Amino acid sequence: MIPISTVRIDEEIEQEVLAVLRSGTIAQGPRVAEFETSFADLCGVKHAVAVNNGTTALVATLKMLDVPRGTTVLTSPFTFVATLNAALESGLRVRFADVDPFTFNVTAASLGDAATAEVSTVMPVHLYGQCAEMLSISELAENEGWAIVEDAAQAHGAQHSGHFAGSFGAGCFSFYATKNLTTGEGGMITTNDDHLADRLRIFRNQGMRQRYQYEMSGTNYRMTDLQAAIGIPQLKRIDQIIAARQRNAGLLTELLSDVEGVVTPGVLPENSHVWHQYTIRIVEGSVRTRDEVIDHLAESGIGCGIYYPRLTHDYDCFNGHPQIDLVPTPIASQMVKEVVSLPVHQYLLTSDLEKIADAVKTGVRG
Ligand SMILES: *Cc1c(COP(=O)(O)O)cnc(C)c1O
Repeated sequence: MIPISTVRIDEEIEQEVLAVLRSGTIAQGPRVAEFETSFADLCGVKHAVAVNNGTTALVATLKMLDVPRGTTVLTSPFTFVATLNAALESGLRVRFADVDPFTFNVTAASLGDAATAEVSTVMPVHLYGQCAEMLSISELAENEGWAIVEDAAQAHGAQHSGHFAGSFGAGCFSFYATKNLTTGEGGMITTNDDHLADRLRIFRNQGMRQRYQYEMSGTNYRMTDLQAAIGIPQLKRIDQIIAARQRNAGLLTELLSDVEGVVTPGVLPENSHVWHQYTIRIVEGSVRTRDEVIDHLAESGIGCGIYYPRLTHDYDCFNGHPQIDLVPTPIASQMVKEVVSLPVHQYLLTSDLEKIADAVKTGVRG
């Protein structure tokens, strides 16, 4: 069985965690500070603020931005539900922009189409590890006076036009177990905004600048040194992790390029994609349906996933939700029916990739 994701904790990480366990500082301490500095360096930004997961990174950012209460966040409906949940939790309204079928991301054009006077914030998702077209989106946001929050949960080290994910606005990252860089659970916010970084640090720590000096109503979103100790060694190797994933994706695209019924994932020429997921579309020309192809992959010992089977808001629990403005997003609605993500992680061998591509080919040919 070739799994869609694999977590391997090496001896260096074990030693780092053991050192924290023996240090007596097991909550937020010096290792978190070190992880923050290294992560800010990776993204080329002034500040990185660690939190306990990617969802709280988004919630904290949306709450600490200086945007009027009750205004609207424009985002993608084709993402993990955390994007939507975080916006709802922050108290803002949510409105959706459609995605591009080539990149699966929102575009400046789709955001412009979905915009209303109530929009204060755009929250593009760098889906599967590829940046949305952030130069155009930043220009639009600047003209409209919108704040930018990047859902970069899947995009550690991704680049657009030489700029890193998380450097266009406030970047929110996740270190959940299956992400390209993991601490089990964990999150990070990146920003060049001194004021926002300061507010985020206070907010995550019960609103305290110093012990019992409350400056705002805050919460506990702190990361621990145990998590930071898991992340630091991986951060040192992030270039190798990205290079291995890029190599694997390149080979899959080569092997699947002329297969009828399969569309391989597109990459903008301005982008460096970090391949959190390698996602193909099963389209007209495939003899089998998408779900039959998935059954065939499973029978062939290939782990695969549908990210995501429905739009985030397309569930009974969000039906008629008072904070959600429903707008039709026909391309995103089509994508949920067509996508299949294949293994692309850094531990795959060339022979694994050939096996995966063969199973896709025999799958669509019926
Ligand atoms: C993983 C993920 C999140 C949430 O991160 P957690 O650390 O699981 O809370 C948010 N958005 C996207 C797109 C994700 O993939």
